[in-house]
Amino acid sequence: MKLVRENKNRAAAYLRQLPGVDELLHTPSVAALLNEYPRTVLVEAARVALENQRAALLGEGKGNKGKGKGKGTVLLPEALLDVKEPGRQENRPLASLRAYFLRSLSQEISQIVWRQTRPNLKKVINATGIILHTNLGRAPLSKAALEAVQAAGSGYCNLELDLNTGQRGSRIDLVAGLLTRLMPVEEALVVNNNAAAVLLALNTMAREKEVIVSRGQLVEIGGSFRMPEIMRQSGANLVEAGTTNRTYPDDYRAVIGEQTALLLHVHTSNYKIIGFTQETSLEELVSLGREYQLPVMSDLGSGCFVDLTFLGLNTEISVSKVVAAGVDVITFSGDKLLGGPQAGIILGKRDYLAKMKKNPLFRAVRCDKLTLAALEATLRLYFDRPAAWKEIPALSMLRFKKEEIEEEAKKVIDALKPALKDYARLSLEPTYAQVGGGAMPATNIPSVAVVIEPFQLSICEVAARLRGKEPAIIGRLQEDRLWLDLRTVQKEEIDLLIKALKEVF
Ligand SMILES: *Cc1c(COP(=O)(O)O)cnc(C)c1O
Repeated sequence: MKLVRENKNRAAAYLRQLPGVDELLHTPSVAALLNEYPRTVLVEAARVALENQRAALLGEGKGNKGKGKGKGTVLLPEALLDVKEPGRQENRPLASLRAYFLRSLSQEISQIVWRQTRPNLKKVINATGIILHTNLGRAPLSKAALEAVQAAGSGYCNLELDLNTGQRGSRIDLVAGLLTRLMPVEEALVVNNNAAAVLLALNTMAREKEVIVSRGQLVEIGGSFRMPEIMRQSGANLVEAGTTNRTYPDDYRAVIGEQTALLLHVHTSNYKIIGFTQETSLEELVSLGREYQLPVMSDLGSGCFVDLTFLGLNTEISVSKVVAAGVDVITFSGDKLLGGPQAGIILGKRDYLAKMKKNPLFRAVRCDKLTLAALEATLRLYFDRPAAWKEIPALSMLRFKKEEIEEEAKKVIDALKPALKDYARLSLEPTYAQVGGGAMPATNIPSVAVVIEPFQLSICEVAARLRGKEPAIIGRLQEDRLWLDLRTVQKEEIDLLIKALKEVF
């Protein structure tokens, strides 16, 4: 709202023209809202709208701090000047001012009520090109997973009831059998997220003992998961081996002692050390474990059940490879490359997992029925690999051909060019998408972006307007242009994207 300086005495006269709450509730547009919303909600909205208007009249509005310094003057919304009759500077028509207030305030009330009743958690179109974007909720769920959530949540379910015996059942058994059939491991356990899985595993296997980790693997994930801190919380003592860039088996040998309870391998999910480097391989770590009779655990982060080598992506995160290396316990997330709900999955030797199940901490980090429903449905898709590739969005987005994405980008540009020709330059540019979610930081996946260069609006303004849409649209700001990478935009979202862009300009 643009503000202009006005005489203070006049502001008082304007203030007197503000309608009361009751009067506002009787305007036709607000009265109509009474059919949809409780009266208390509308009263509250009317108070807020009035307060905002009063503050604006007195020059106390947002972004107005320290500006209304001129003595005897206040800042008024420019809109008020519209009620000024031409040539009659002094004698403002106060009656039309009242009509103006009634009109603008009732509009404001419906805006406030509308905003209040919109969900806080909104749908977002992810045009960042980052497939597993933690801020955007990581993996989208498959149709099968969504249906399972709907079924489990809309009524009662056998979460902890064995329907064969009528006895109490275990919620973990709903998915443990599927996991042990999919991966050659003795036992499986599921908790709320991978951070909880690591915490539970360390607390169970190494509380008041020592855990050895390479200095090159002391990761921080997403600001809050820091290996040394998780270790402290678990009650285990961290012992560092080797150096940041080089750790050999002998570095582990040098620190293994009486107190050692576990050798821990952490996947360096979100960074890569390049150059003069040496990591002890999982296989070497496993043979060290055998030599000293110590268990070996791998925190994999973004565990993957399918083979990604044909995409030119590396295989460090293949769960079956890590299992084959012979580690005793593996932990990974449900909502990274597995493509399911937020969960922490623990696979491994029966003895260790049985102890974890008995740990009171397990009760504190167990997952709910909705998670288990979505996870079960996701896991079932993996029994038919082609179905998994097709149905699990995180995987299908990885596999889109660049040509397919290019076709979508052309469609967007063709649809927008005529409408936007005076407002922005549109181009189709090659770019690279990322797996994200702390998986394969060094991997670039060829992709295509619709790139927008506005003529008048600033790029930040365009981005802000797109964020305000429903669904909100999130792109990437780069080189003073807005990049919309279409690898992460689902086919059904393309039309919404086009519509939103037209509206924004
Ligand atoms: C992502 C990640 C975690 C944390 O997993 P959440 O599911 O976010 O709790 C832990 N360790 C590694 C190596 C990771 O990549």
